[in-house]
Amino acid sequence: MIAEVIVDLPVLTGEFGFDYIVPPYLETEIAVGDEVDVTFNRRHVKGIVARLKGDSVYADPSAITCLTRHDTFLCSRSMELAEWITRRYLCPSMDALRLFYPSYIEDAVQKQTVLLAGPSGATPDRLTVLQQKLYDLILANPFRFSRAECNRLCGVSSSVMDALVKKGAVQFITSDEAYVSLRLNNDIPERLTDEQQSVLDTFEALRLQGDIRPALLHGVTGSGKTEVYIRMVEKTLACGRQAIITVPEIGLTPQISGIFRSRFGQRLAVLHSAMSAGERASEWRRIAGGDADIVLGPRSAVFAPLRDPGIIVIDEEHDQSYKQENCPRYHARDVAVKRAEIYGAHVVLGSATPSLESYHKASNGCYVLLELKKRVADRELPGVEIIDMREELKSGNRRVFSLGLMQAVREALDDDKQSILFLNRRGYSTFVLCRGCGYSVQCPNCSVSLTYHLKSRTLTCHHCDYKGKAPETCPKCASHYIRYFGLGTEKLEESAASEFPDAAIFRMDRDTTSRKGAHQELIEAFRNKRGGILIGTQMVTKGHDFPDVTVVGVIAADISLNVESFRAGEKTFQLLTQVAGRAGRGSAAGKVLLQTYNPEHPAVLCAAGHDYATFYAAELLQREELSYPPFSHIINIVSSDQSQSAAGDRIASFADLLRREMPEDDIIIGPAPAAIARLKGHYRWHLLLKSMQLETTLKHLRQVLLAMRQSDRKGLVVDVDSESML
Ligand code: ADP
Ligand code: ZN
Ligand code: ZN
Repeated sequence: MIAEVIVDLPVLTGEFGFDYIVPPYLETEIAVGDEVDVTFNRRHVKGIVARLKGDSVYADPSAITCLTRHDTFLCSRSMELAEWITRRYLCPSMDALRLFYPSYIEDAVQKQTVLLAGPSGATPDRLTVLQQKLYDLILANPFRFSRAECNRLCGVSSSVMDALVKKGAVQFITSDEAYVSLRLNNDIPERLTDEQQSVLDTFEALRLQGDIRPALLHGVTGSGKTEVYIRMVEKTLACGRQAIITVPEIGLTPQISGIFRSRFGQRLAVLHSAMSAGERASEWRRIAGGDADIVLGPRSAVFAPLRDPGIIVIDEEHDQSYKQENCPRYHARDVAVKRAEIYGAHVVLGSATPSLESYHKASNGCYVLLELKKRVADRELPGVEIIDMREELKSGNRRVFSLGLMQAVREALDDDKQSILFLNRRGYSTFVLCRGCGYSVQCPNCSVSLTYHLKSRTLTCHHCDYKGKAPETCPKCASHYIRYFGLGTEKLEESAASEFPDAAIFRMDRDTTSRKGAHQELIEAFRNKRGGILIGTQMVTKGHDFPDVTVVGVIAADISLNVESFRAGEKTFQLLTQVAGRAGRGSAAGKVLLQTYNPEHPAVLCAAGHDYATFYAAELLQREELSYPPFSHIINIVSSDQSQSAAGDRIASFADLLRREMPEDDIIIGPAPAAIARLKGHYRWHLLLKSMQLETTLKHLRQVLLAMRQSDRKGLVVDVDSESML
């Protein structure tokens, strides 16, 4: 008996696994997924059994030394998926396998689940002064602090807490539950809309026919996609199978966990990155043990250890966070499609702004297209007005807000309605420039301008976290003409406060949400504040359902257009459509104002017209002309090194190797310096490879990589189906 074993080596290899002889005494015991000890190049290493077979093509394999652990959740189907990931994303086999076996499961042994203290609902009688003090804190901050934090904040010993617990005044719950208990959404719609019903009917028909082509659910913002997912999941569970729902950055959308929890209770397991390792591990065990049969989580949830998932839903499938930006650089959407294929499951990709790739597949029949064209309850999509900021400037308005936006926000305030102002740049000023000599303050480690943060009074690099003092004179010519330019959310907040002194203003960006729980608190505070104004980065565009928001202002629609990427137009269209979709989700109609210097840009025009079809058609033509996805796969290869010439030489010799025997239709662009030519002290060169036959290209690419010296290969990053080309 032969076992194909994934050896724990941090390098790319030619094969998925290596063959080892199974010693006779292990033959009845060994199974796929088991952990074993083997020797590799005369070293002892750990490995995982991927396959068991009768013989080997290799002449003389060595034997497995011993079996160290039996695992039940890694099955031959997970192995098939892991092998696909290894080949598709050119990563070491063990890295692919680790996706199924996240590190927090191992770490959890040391880390304990954090329990948060909250009132139990019962009123305790006769409390001592210290007990009262502690109890007041807990009442005022329900499920916010752990036991130790409460004790510390009140300066009391743990016996005070014990007394409160004994009196039945305090209870503890895990922070995941606390996070969901913030808002349990119990309103189940009485009737589905006709469109929702017809989508579900189509889906049911596909299911009965055994048609498991992936389905693309293209539904405008506010069309009730979540309810459709829920019904699909219910159907799947009724058939005895399980479900996975992924959302981009789950920490940003607490609402959806609330909805799913209220509908599925303890059958639901939630995984998200803000949970402690212990919490995640315990959820993970509930899934692996069969106690939970619905998993809701970010991209990594596609690897959840469910035995027989019948449906995988990828909500907001266009979202960039589905791409993992470190090794293995997998795309959760594509992994979901593959996993569904292996498991015979349905996959549903949902979005108001589908990626060009997915919509293309839906229009040529590879995917099934399901559509929701109208909002629920006869609500209208908001009217969108484009405001040409060049005209605004000509007419003498040099402020951040156009007159139209000022007026709209003012009207919303007067009606006790809410507004959202979107600006995709955090900080106060986004660059610092000397008017005397033209010098702009750059990060010492990266080739980017530093952002000024008012609160911390520092110049910060958003790529490497460098922090420096803000200069008062020019570091180069010592003049006093140093000036701060460029608008960030921090300054926008300040401007809004001076324009609308009577409004409650909330700011949501990475700086205001870094503390655990801060994001959810912000959302709740804003939701409950009449006439509130929410200012924020793309965090405010993500799937929120605030019924009282009637005005959405986009301060600068152009920021994402200026990114160096063939996806800039698509990303801008998606961002604008998504943020516009936050307006008018309640009974009152919504209004959107897009401030821009590019009022004729198709991404801006089509977003304003809620016109996906026109945008798609125009963008597709361009992509075809230039052989960009969906007409090719883009592979971005970056060489980075502390030495500029080493980085350049390495990519040049890589390009030479690549060109030899390259598949005929493939196209290489570059090598050239990367958009961020220096990052964290490393110089960066890159080349783009447009692949027409991905499998052929990947085989060739693997050969080229294996032919390089390992030290050279280490300085290269290969990103297949690259989303961000910075
Ligand atoms: P989407 O994800 O498509 O933008 P949501 O799923 O957030 O939309 O739904 C928008 C709102 O419509 C939610 O508040 C939801 O409760 C409500 N809703 C969903 N289906 C119905 C229905 N059939 N009737 C009335 N309201 C509905
Ligand atoms: Zn100067
Ligand atoms: Zn930096």
